[in-house]
Amino acid sequence: MTTLVNLNLITDLQKFGAAEINACMSCGNCTAICPLADNDATFPRSMIRLAQVGLTDDLVGSKELWTCYQCGLCTSRCPQDADPAEFMATARRYAIAHYDKSGIARIMYTKPILGGAIALVAALFFALFFAAVSGERSQQSLKLFDFISYPIIHTVGIILMAVVVLFSAIGVILLARDIARRDDVTWKSVVGSKAAWKRTGKALWYALGIESLGQKRYREDCTDDEPVVPLYRRRWLIHALTIWGFLGLLLATAIDYGMDMFGLKPTGTWVPLWYPVRLLGTIAGLSLMYGVTWFMITRWQKRAESSQHSLPTDWLFLALLWITGLTGFLIEIALYAGPAPQWGYWVFLIHVAVAMELVLFLPFSKFAHAMYRPVSLFFYGLAKNKELQSA
Ligand code: SF4
Ligand code: SF4
Repeated sequence: MTTLVNLNLITDLQKFGAAEINACMSCGNCTAICPLADNDATFPRSMIRLAQVGLTDDLVGSKELWTCYQCGLCTSRCPQDADPAEFMATARRYAIAHYDKSGIARIMYTKPILGGAIALVAALFFALFFAAVSGERSQQSLKLFDFISYPIIHTVGIILMAVVVLFSAIGVILLARDIARRDDVTWKSVVGSKAAWKRTGKALWYALGIESLGQKRYREDCTDDEPVVPLYRRRWLIHALTIWGFLGLLLATAIDYGMDMFGLKPTGTWVPLWYPVRLLGTIAGLSLMYGVTWFMITRWQKRAESSQHSLPTDWLFLALLWITGLTGFLIEIALYAGPAPQWGYWVFLIHVAVAMELVLFLPFSKFAHAMYRPVSLFFYGLAKNKELQSA
């Protein structure tokens, strides 16, 4: 197989951040201190080396990129101030742009003014569209789906999902292909025998259950924080509450949709606060808001090594999540605040428009890590099982 060397890789990477990476002299201090580097994943030094010698495919197709949680320990021990933690974050941004074949992610990361304009136009488009198709605003009680009809929201959502799933699937398949090539993982070693299926099942459980939901390595990594950072501000907890909140909201929406489909409860019917699906949505929303608010505070204050560098697109992702959560709670207040406060209709319109934008930008923003990290962790899970090598 021919190996292509990209002589412009460092220059190109620098457009995504990581300005100091040329200072690295490969001493290995960063790998020695990294709590997540082990025999199966030696980083960040090896990743920096790949960039320095111009091996783009090896860099973006490394599962190690996504196993780093950007704790910043490596940066604090680098004698050259090469900022390896920021390099890892930069390489992940670069990988998101590499696997996005529309080119939108590259624009969002490297041309912030144009990227901001695209985000603004998309938000205005959704807001104006839903305003144009909106119906009557009942004065007696808040009838949100009389204002913007459920079939319209549903249809726009399905169209958006089709676009997002297409670009996401392309990115995920290409990343999986590249990691598999690099790690010598074949179809046979994944599904070719009963033992292979068992290993695959274990790797899936590791990626989705233990790491993505349980945050095991993130938690262990954060043990270094324990003496100084109170539990409510630990990075793993903030990250976990954001994920759990987001998934909880998705689950509540799916259950609501299912109940409507099976004729159990039409969507939009008034229910008390303690109704199980409503309660699930409220708790999940609180969890999401807590996590995202702390992420924004730590980025703003730049207290931790991990929050020293933020690109506008990082803020866009957090802002969209935060506005979606906040408007969701305002709608809830409006629903239970007595006779039809009219502002509730307009908050609902903003909520729907921002949620649509959030979905639309999934493959083109930091949000994409939610699909690339589990893929990499799956291969990491496979690599942990040494039997794979002999399959
Ligand atoms: S990034 Fe710093 S610590 Fe890591 S290998 Fe390079 S010089 Fe050494
Ligand atoms: S930021 Fe933390 S997890 Fe990532 S490479 Fe550096 S030490 Fe390892």
